[in-house]
Amino acid sequence: SSETKELESKDKDKDKDDGADGPMSPAEKSLLQKIIHKGLVESTKDLEIQRKDPSSPLYSVKSFELLHLKPELLKGVYAMGFNAPSKIQETALPTLLADPPQNMIAQSQSGTGKTAAFVLAMLSRVNVDKNYPQVLCLSPTYELAIQTGEVAAKMSQFCPEIKIKYAVRGEEVPRGSKISDHIIIGTPGKVLDWALKYRFFDLSKISVFVLDEADVMIATQGHQDQCIRIHKMLPKSSCQMMFFSATYEPEVMEFAEIIVSNPLIIRLMREEESLDNIKQYYVKCRSVEEKYVAITNIYSVISIGQAIIFCHTRRTAGWLAEKMTKDGHRVAILSGDLTVEQRIAVLDRFRAGLEKVLITTNVLARGIDVAQVTIVVNFDLPMDQNRKADCETYLHRIGRTGRFGKSGIAINLVDSEESALICQEIERHFNKKIHYLDAEDPDEIE
Ligand code: ADP
Repeated sequence: SSETKELESKDKDKDKDDGADGPMSPAEKSLLQKIIHKGLVESTKDLEIQRKDPSSPLYSVKSFELLHLKPELLKGVYAMGFNAPSKIQETALPTLLADPPQNMIAQSQSGTGKTAAFVLAMLSRVNVDKNYPQVLCLSPTYELAIQTGEVAAKMSQFCPEIKIKYAVRGEEVPRGSKISDHIIIGTPGKVLDWALKYRFFDLSKISVFVLDEADVMIATQGHQDQCIRIHKMLPKSSCQMMFFSATYEPEVMEFAEIIVSNPLIIRLMREEESLDNIKQYYVKCRSVEEKYVAITNIYSVISIGQAIIFCHTRRTAGWLAEKMTKDGHRVAILSGDLTVEQRIAVLDRFRAGLEKVLITTNVLARGIDVAQVTIVVNFDLPMDQNRKADCETYLHRIGRTGRFGKSGIAINLVDSEESALICQEIERHFNKKIHYLDAEDPDEIE
């Protein structure tokens, strides 16, 4: 019954955990981003391109026709609703499809079209006359591998002869047999097992190697070493190496240098969030009840758009949601104890306007691209572990990127000396006035 004991102690921890809602794991975050970004993230930023040999011409294309894809693949691309290449695809695709093959490192935020780019390259390189794996794509988790595989399946819907195999938990291959599929998409541990332990396929015959979500890979214990072990078995001179990441930290680049020699490096800067067209207010409250009154006063004047309310703990978020619901308001709640599927369902409903208010903890400070949100309320001001102002989180909660452009309103509820100081520190940090608002008279909100 040691198992029961372990369960009990876990549950106790859970009870205790009404404190600050922790961040999601990088893999979870990445998956959620993938699922909630239904369309392309457009960027006004320029691409930064680095290459070892600047004398060789660099192509870029404004249409998919110019890539001279197999007609069935082009049909697949259009069937997915893609009309023209995204910013990163314009430059990545000609290089990824060129002969002789070139290596690439590409970095851009999630939703900018990286997956679609390398999947198209993977599918284009398959020789269907050869019945063995030629393309290998590593993803950090089961779920992310499936996401990539689904893109590949859709894009190759008119090329039924291309076969794709998942190397993930739950997938089995009979002992002693060989895999005849052309493309393997999987997690590093399973791929290592299949290639080295069971010899289900031959890594020396791989001609395209894709390392997806490299930054998440690094963040996952043991994955980096497994990737390097796999990489060691690939034919260095004849295998095209592609490396994709949403971030560009030094560890990511060190990893990239091990995997990819002589690459073309493409980076698309993230659009910076700013407070430029946000009106910021603070409301003085003496207690949590007064905060509640302030919220309901504000709620009563929101006639257009939607609001997001940030709380510091799951407990406060739950309390607030319950109280507002009892008072007849339609609110949604999003916190760290929900599964990914539940979070998506909550966000889908909110996006569809079924609820006007979303109450959340820190889980999604960045990445809720809900353009119609006009009011952001900090029920609790964001602070770090030392209870100091967390200006970065403030910016992610309130800030808008150029692509939303719309103006918004931020309201900070201040209920103590401490939170007043945090509010002042935020004001100083951004050098932007946070105006006093009388919550009894919320008509002041412009
Ligand atoms: P990333 O891998 O950078 O996160 P994805 O390749 O998953 O980006 O693309 C993000 C979203 O944009 C997906 O929903 C995808 O179907 C869509 N998308 C990708 N490329 C295009 C394109 N050229 N035109 C329209 N939509 C696209």
